[in-house]
Amino acid sequence: MAKSYDVIVIGAGPGGMTAALYASRANLSVLMLDRGIYGGQMNNTAEVENYPGFKSILGPELGEKMYASATQFGAEYGYGTVNAIEIQGDMKLVHTDEGDFEARSIIIATGSEHKKIGIPGEDEFSGRGVSYCAVCDGAFFKNKEVVVIGGGDSAIEEGLYLTQLASKVTVIHRRDELRAQKILQDRAFANDKMTFIWNAQVTTIEGDDKKVTGVTYVDKTTGETKEVAASGVFIYVGIDPMTSAFDDLGILTNAGWIKTDDHMATRIPGIYAIGDVREKDLRQITTAVGDGGIAGQEVFKYLQSI
Ligand code: FAD
Ligand code: NAP
Repeated sequence: MAKSYDVIVIGAGPGGMTAALYASRANLSVLMLDRGIYGGQMNNTAEVENYPGFKSILGPELGEKMYASATQFGAEYGYGTVNAIEIQGDMKLVHTDEGDFEARSIIIATGSEHKKIGIPGEDEFSGRGVSYCAVCDGAFFKNKEVVVIGGGDSAIEEGLYLTQLASKVTVIHRRDELRAQKILQDRAFANDKMTFIWNAQVTTIEGDDKKVTGVTYVDKTTGETKEVAASGVFIYVGIDPMTSAFDDLGILTNAGWIKTDDHMATRIPGIYAIGDVREKDLRQITTAVGDGGIAGQEVFKYLQSI
């Protein structure tokens, strides 16, 4: 028989860990399920400077602190990839590759994952110079030249992190202005190690039989094809929702995000969604944490009402 809980939280990023804290502190039995280590995208983040209470903190360190909070009132943490949710009256059966679990309510906090750019060389050189995580792989490029593709917060923030290690960081962006927050732009433009190639679409990641040697791009202003030499290519071209396990529930938007109301409730009673996976404007640690607090409280009210 599947082990039964009041609440199953799917995903142990900042949103899921906060929901687990609130629900377990309300004396509900809570299982947090994650397909990997707790912390979510914070594990891929160098420095976090916009989480109140800390002037600056390493992403993984903030994850550790949130985990200690999340589990202090008895919430359990379990490993497993959730593949589907089956509704059985007021109960919900959660199917994972480690077995089934059941709960009276579910909080989906599966977040998002980096997009691939989808060009030749990307898959071939993944782990051999192509990376999506500066914190994880930056050290391999000490005193070497690297390219960062993208113009959002991730590209600029992680590019700045890379300037501490690499000899040169070239940001290649498809437009002539960045999407990133102004404070990150100001820092990037003031950093001697960072250079920019504007209006450029990277078409191929080049390499020899062992590793990356550079990228080829099209200069969109002139139509010319050009090359940049680099030992590493860091790709930050956006994020996709992690919602394939919930396709059948009829709670996704056309773009694949989960639609909720202000109480984090989906259209299915007892199923809530929080954090990056939700259809919303601002995807941040603070907003994931805020969503988690609301959902943790809402499941308590829901369970009292059934
Ligand atoms: P996530 O952190 O994405 O966690 C989701 C969790 O769900 C993961 O642990 C994942 O393994 C798990 N999961 C997914 N699918 C399944 C499944 N099927 N079964 C089981 N588990 C599953 N925000 C800031 O506020 N400040 C910053 O400085 C900052 N820097 C960033 C730097 C980078 C490089 C990136 C990529 C993001 C950054 N962000 C930053 C954004 C921030 O990390 C996210 O907004 C936040 O982590 C979202 O939290 P979440 O709990 O919704 O989801
Ligand atoms: P993003 O904001 O979607 O930015 C993606 C960037 O990649 C954009 O500049 C986009 O160009 C470019 N791009 C998209 N597809 C491309 C393609 N095929 N080829 C070349 N370039 C392409 O994604 P993100 O930077 O990963 O940020 C994701 C979320 O996390 C955001 O909500 C962000 O605010 C948050 N985040 C926050 C922080 C922080 O607060 N410090 C740090 C990191 C991330 P265009 O600009 O032309 O669209």
